[in-house]
Amino acid sequence: MKRDGAMVWLGNIKDALWSTMVGMGITFRHMFKKPVTYQYPEDVVPVATRYRGMHFLEQDKCIACRACEKACPVDCIEIRFLRHPGSVNEWFEFSLDYNKCMFCELCCSPCPEDCIHEGKEFGFARYERSELVVDLTTWKGLRDVDHQRIKEAEEEKKRKAAEMAAKKKAAAAKKAAEAKKTAESPEAKSGPSETAKPASDPEGSKPQTPKPKIPKGDAKGPSSKKTAEEQKPQGNQNKGKGSEKGKTKGKGKKRGGGK
Ligand code: SF4
Ligand code: SF4
Repeated sequence: MKRDGAMVWLGNIKDALWSTMVGMGITFRHMFKKPVTYQYPEDVVPVATRYRGMHFLEQDKCIACRACEKACPVDCIEIRFLRHPGSVNEWFEFSLDYNKCMFCELCCSPCPEDCIHEGKEFGFARYERSELVVDLTTWKGLRDVDHQRIKEAEEEKKRKAAEMAAKKKAAAAKKAAEAKKTAESPEAKSGPSETAKPASDPEGSKPQTPKPKIPKGDAKGPSSKKTAEEQKPQGNQNKGKGSEKGKTKGKGKKRGGGK
């Protein structure tokens, strides 16, 4: 009996040593393996690639078309913005109510700019329900670059308006010139001879002044002509007188001779 008790005691020691060695063997085996415990929330558990979690917005690309807002079956998207010249949006709100969202992803597919997505974030633990309305915007209002773009757009708008005004003015001037031309054309048609005359004879309309008759063979100026005209009749008169004298003399001689 005493012998059986000693054997059991030794067997127990052997089992204890063996179980300790097996246990330590398992411990040593896992000592150099990668740990499976994640220190959440510091460490985030990886999720499947198709997981649909909290949304994120690429605000730079968003054109505020509201397609996502319209597509949402539970109306949990709220977009508030102001459109400025140059298609610049002044953002006030792009919020999503996760009290209502069912992560159906119907808001993402109709987006024309592919700028709203469902991410991998699954931590929705909040103390208040109101905290589950999340604003997805990364900035509010206008940035410096937006101010610059608005300024450029306004200048471009002014330039185009000035161009349009100049074009309109030119078109109006052209129209007025055409109207004037058409108004003048019937007068030209009504008097073709009068209008034709100036073309052929520029002096036709002017009063004709009689040109002084220049005696043949005298190519001198008007003063010489005058002297010639003044002198000639005198010479002729003298000649005439002389001839008349001669005639009278002759007549007298004849008469005398007759006597
Ligand atoms: S995932 Fe579905 S329910 Fe949630 S915001 Fe998008 S469309 Fe609405
Ligand atoms: S559909 Fe896309 S581009 Fe349009 S408002 Fe939504 S996120 Fe912005």
